[in-house]
Parts: sequence; C-alpha cells; structure tokens
Amino acid sequence: MDKCHCGAEPSVFLNYSNAHLCQQHFIHMFDKRFRATVRNNQMIKKNDRVAIGLSGGKDSMVLLHSLAELKKDLPFELVAITIDEGIKGYREKTIKVAKAECVKLGVEHFVFSYEKEAGKTMDEIVSDNSEDIPCSHCGVMRRYLLNRSAREVNATKMATGHNLDDMAQTIMMNIMRNEPARLARLNEPMLKDAKFVQRIRPLMVTPEREVAIYAIMKDIELERMECPYARFAFRGHIRKMINEAEEKYPGTKFKIVNSLLEMEDALRAKYSKGAVLSACEKCGEPSSSNLCMYCKTVKFVNRKLV
Ligand code: SF4
Repeated sequence: MDKCHCGAEPSVFLNYSNAHLCQQHFIHMFDKRFRATVRNNQMIKKNDRVAIGLSGGKDSMVLLHSLAELKKDLPFELVAITIDEGIKGYREKTIKVAKAECVKLGVEHFVFSYEKEAGKTMDEIVSDNSEDIPCSHCGVMRRYLLNRSAREVNATKMATGHNLDDMAQTIMMNIMRNEPARLARLNEPMLKDAKFVQRIRPLMVTPEREVAIYAIMKDIELERMECPYARFAFRGHIRKMINEAEEKYPGTKFKIVNSLLEMEDALRAKYSKGAVLSACEKCGEPSSSNLCMYCKTVKFVNRKLV
C-alpha cells in the first residue's frame, strides 16, 4: 500500500497530485496552501479589520479557524457577520453554532436579518413566489447585505468561505448562462467605489472535499444541514457535472479556475468599456442603474399580492 512521504499510513489521497498524505502532513499542506493564498494574493495586510461572512457551515467555520490561527502571526482584527435569511429549521441551527464558536475564539459576532433589513424572511419570499428559484432573490440580497454590514462594522476586508468547487461552479454557471460580463467581475467589481468593501476568498484554491476532511481532523464544530431551498438551485446540476468530470479527469476544478484567472484581464478590459457606476436613488449604494439590484428585489418581493 502507498504511504505518506514520511512513511506513515496515509489518511488522504489527492488524485489531482497523486499524493498520499497522513493526517499530520495533510493538515500541514492545508495550512501552508491557505497562508500562501492569502500572502500571494495580498489578501490581508497588517492592521486590516477583516469581517468574515459566517454561515456556520463547514467552509466558513474552517475559514474562521484558519483566520484566527493566522491572526497569531499577522496583526489584524477579525469580526464575524452572519446573514439570517429567515429559513425555519435551518438558519437558527447554524447561527447557534456560529455564535458559540465566535465566543470560544473571542471573535465579535454580528447578525443581520432579511426580515429586519428587507421586510420579509426567505420563507415568506418563497411562499409568495413559489414559481421563482429562491436562490436568485437570496443571492442578490445576501451579497448586498454582506457588503453593507461589513462597512457598518468598519471592516476593511470581507472574507468569504468560497472554496475551489464553489469557484469552478460559479464560472461554469456564468458560461452556461452566457454571462461573460459576470465572469469579468467575479473577483472584484468592475469599477472601484469607496462603498465596496474588498472581498477576499482565502479558500478559493482549496477543494471542498479537503475543507470537509480538515474540519473533521481538526474537530471543528459546524452545522452539516443544507438549506432546504438548495435543491432548486441550478448550481446543484453544475456541481454534479463538474464532480463527474473531476472523477474522470483529476484536476478539472483547478483547470476551470486557472482558465478564468488567465482570461480575467482580457475580460475586464472588454467589459469595463462604457461601464458606469452611480448611486442607487433609493438606498445610495453603488449601482449601474437608477435602482440597484437589491432595491429592485426588495420592491418585487414586497409587492402587493392580490
Ligand atoms: Fe439562499 Fe439558496 Fe443559499 Fe438557501 S441555498 S441560503 S435560498 S442562496
């Protein structure tokens, strides 16, 4: 049987690099890659105030732990923000886990809810708009509230737990929906605005499977439950398709993300031409039209139903 390079029994096999690793060397590789991603992409600078988008699921909980560890060597502040969409039987459980972990690690934790900010819970939005895919409304609202709340807690960076699989799925979704302009602004907004808090994704080159293995090995508390509305999402089909490709052709996920990084400058050059940013006439946040996507969504979901 193949062994880890140290001679120990392996715990993990990484098929894209044909490496067998014992627990100790898997954790070492994971931490090293995490720090290299932060360093090579200049994600966090000394004295930054980093707000982590903390859902309570495995990705954000592993990110919380890895950032708390990094903080021991690099002086920066860490706070956590949870967006409560108002999904009964799901979100209250993840908030409980997120809160408890923040207390344990001494990280200040803030919760912002759709109900308070947008006037409706996600459950109410779904029941009023049963023909729509819930995630299309939810995604717009969460992205907006994360950015605005990060600013409200004086964060200089907004860290999210997106992993390699999430990145590969988002890229393929935008290609299959013929939305290359969205690809161009995947890593940063097309135009700069002081109201955009810079987003960072320190797990962007870490496969989802490895995040899950790391969480188990490090005994990190997390909530494994999935959002009940996730089954409606287009993302589910893409995930299945990419996972099948990865199984047959190891390294596919890395290649999808690397392809975008190669094309990014050309895409940004093409789609930045003529792009304009003004303030949304309702909320004042940066927007490319009179009303930003969030205000349009909130207006739609609060419309009078006959
Ligand atoms: Fe929102 Fe969809 Fe995610 Fe559920 S799966 S939290 S509805 S975006």
